[in-house]
Amino acid sequence: MTKIWANSADSHVLEPDDLWLRSLPARLARRAPRSERGDKYEILYIDGERVDRQLNDFMDKMRPPGARDLGIRLKDLDQEGVWGQLAFPSMGFWTVKIKDRELARETVRAWNDWAHAEILSKNKRVIPTACVSIADIDDAVAELERAAGLGFQAVFLPSQTRPGEEYAHDRWEPLWAAAERAGLVLGFHIGTGGDTVVFRGPGGAVINYMETTYPGMRVVSHMVAGGTLDRHPGLRILIAEGGAAWVPAIGDRMDEAYRQHGMFVRPKLSRLPSEIIRQQVYASFQHDKSAVQVMPATGYRNILWGDDYPHLEGTYGHTQETLRGLFADASDDVRERILGGTFSELFRVPVQTPQQASV
Ligand code: MN
Repeated sequence: MTKIWANSADSHVLEPDDLWLRSLPARLARRAPRSERGDKYEILYIDGERVDRQLNDFMDKMRPPGARDLGIRLKDLDQEGVWGQLAFPSMGFWTVKIKDRELARETVRAWNDWAHAEILSKNKRVIPTACVSIADIDDAVAELERAAGLGFQAVFLPSQTRPGEEYAHDRWEPLWAAAERAGLVLGFHIGTGGDTVVFRGPGGAVINYMETTYPGMRVVSHMVAGGTLDRHPGLRILIAEGGAAWVPAIGDRMDEAYRQHGMFVRPKLSRLPSEIIRQQVYASFQHDKSAVQVMPATGYRNILWGDDYPHLEGTYGHTQETLRGLFADASDDVRERILGGTFSELFRVPVQTPQQASV
């Protein structure tokens, strides 16, 4: 059977456990994010704050062999049929919880230096996203510009914000301007910036999974209705891991509000929300059949697939089976767009040679 090759817009790197211990002075390193394995929970400490996460005992066994080794990872990717990967952080996600200005600035800087030295400068297929300070926007701008200079192509931002710091607010404007100037894609990964468990009761596992999805929608409504994407037509945003079929649907919802509630709408936009979405908003999914069906049905084409390597929700070990199932009834145009074309529109990835393609 012919291998289906794909690019993935939602993958991750696994940082070394001592990343911050070895790169920061002790007084900062001891407040940087670190993880401990408890009996029932994984316990995370982030600058004095404690987060308990459900411990997935089977998790370690399911880790792909290349989870922590770039050379082996590339072999994993060849086996799975994945060519390029946009690689978000793992532990680096927790830097968005840091409120202390110096600690936020130094932890993201150390993360970017590590990702540059170990991933970015060693290969062109696995493309790490840079981290920036969420605690201070001037620091975020400075780090974004430094990251662009190092060759990063995208910046990771949390899908959830603190009350009063929602993405429609002016607070973020210098960062949006800097990202547009530098040509960096803003990658909002779902499940970041907020609480991981918001409901304990019947259906909790699925309900909490959904609770990570809604903030991705909120990012889009804030970035569109707040005027950010209209003011910065060169800026492109990606909502990673939250599915994609909802994107054209909320475009219709926002158009309805923009039109029917027109007398209350501030700011006015130069384009309809749905047009802005079609031009500047991208989304990635792993298993959703509807994400494939929605492209020919609605003409929304900014859809990418993601393998979520090396995470539990990902497709490692069954990537080909997943892709064959997803695209069984899709046209060549839809399959090629979702698995390759959309990715190449956002990121520079080496051209795959026929030899490599047959690996
Ligand atoms: Mn992911």
